Amino acid sequence: MKFKISDYLYPFEIFKLFRFLNRSKGFSYQQLVEYQNEKLRSIVHHAYNHVPYYHELFNECGIKPGDIQTIEDLPAIPVLTKEIIRNRYNDLIADNADQFNPYENMTSGSTGSPLKFLQDKNVSIARFTFFWRIWKMAGYKPYMRWAQIDGMHIGSKENLWSFNRTLNSLQISSYYLHERNCKQILDKLSDFKPKIIRGYPMAIFMVSQFVNNSSYTVDYPVKSIITYSENLLPEYRFAIEKAFNCKVFDVFSQWEGVCLISECEKGELHQHMEFSVMEVLNADNKPAEMDEKGEITATSFYNYSMPFIRYKTGDLAIRENTSCSCDLNHMVVKKISGRKKDALFDTGGNLISFKGLQISNKDIYDTVEGLLQSQIVQASLDKVKVYLVVKNRSSSERIEKEFTKSIKSRLGDEMNIEFIYADSIPKRKNGKTPFVRNNLLNKV
Ligand SMILES: [Zn+2]
Repeated sequence: MKFKISDYLYPFEIFKLFRFLNRSKGFSYQQLVEYQNEKLRSIVHHAYNHVPYYHELFNECGIKPGDIQTIEDLPAIPVLTKEIIRNRYNDLIADNADQFNPYENMTSGSTGSPLKFLQDKNVSIARFTFFWRIWKMAGYKPYMRWAQIDGMHIGSKENLWSFNRTLNSLQISSYYLHERNCKQILDKLSDFKPKIIRGYPMAIFMVSQFVNNSSYTVDYPVKSIITYSENLLPEYRFAIEKAFNCKVFDVFSQWEGVCLISECEKGELHQHMEFSVMEVLNADNKPAEMDEKGEITATSFYNYSMPFIRYKTGDLAIRENTSCSCDLNHMVVKKISGRKKDALFDTGGNLISFKGLQISNKDIYDTVEGLLQSQIVQASLDKVKVYLVVKNRSSSERIEKEFTKSIKSRLGDEMNIEFIYADSIPKRKNGKTPFVRNNLLNKV
């Protein structure tokens, strides 16, 4: 969720969309679907008339753009995979792409190779405005002081933060965050007194665990904490909410800008239906049942230079057929169960999504008190290595027991576990620290 400076340069467009989003917030589910149908017809017509790949695909499948009238008709169009984008890149570019002011964007490709794609100026505008809506839902008001702990501020060991006057924001580098400078960062936060803190869950968890494991107290009121870009593990949420005494709002999106899901004040996850159509598909690319896990597949309304229609994101989710008691009538997502790459092989060779320890309540959270950072690395089909950073070794036995229980219950009793204690866990260049690293994934 990084924004380029140019994202702020379209105040008129941003304001116009924001005004619409304020209005559509009151839409019924049916009105939201009608809005989606209209947006869908427009992108499908454009794709057929201007994008060689889709023109060819529709003809091959015997589809006319007029056949796709509603989101119910979408399954007629074959899905778009990362592999197709790599192989047919030039054919996916619209012949009138220039008029949408696109720029070349790229995913980090932390496993496998990066994915390159074109993205319209409007995607930046939409992303900025929808995030503004999400921040507002979390209590943000213009000019409020906020702090950000993520990979945006590059920083250095000596220069951990910078102040952005325009944004009224303290930007803290997650890359150089270490147990030894947590106090320095907490003192700086205490001077600045942010109302909202945003950032990578692991980084905020680390700072929170410093508070929870010491006599340090956060003596200023924080309205809310917004997390994104990494999995918010249950233990992270417990620790962060305890340390800062406020609610965590988790946000889920992808760099490709195709789907946006965020948590409301009731703690439910909502898909922002004005942003895109989201489907959850099973392994056969058929709609997953409610309560069944499937892959998030989305159709973006904002990218005309390179339309992504039924794009398979590689992220897994479970839908729920329910409504929420908050103001929003958007689709409710029961759970985002990690990314395909956040998965480990069990001893039978099956890929199992692994999203944190099985911590579902405060009591279990207490069993891992003293845990500062952790990472599970799959070394072979029958062995995982667990890297742990702990406050002191007296808590080791308790923590190892909890990890062993969680790992064996999901990956099999035969799984060998090696615990390795470290001072810190290496971060990626973008300052992120994934909880799961599967070294075998790229080899299968
Ligand atoms: Zn809600």
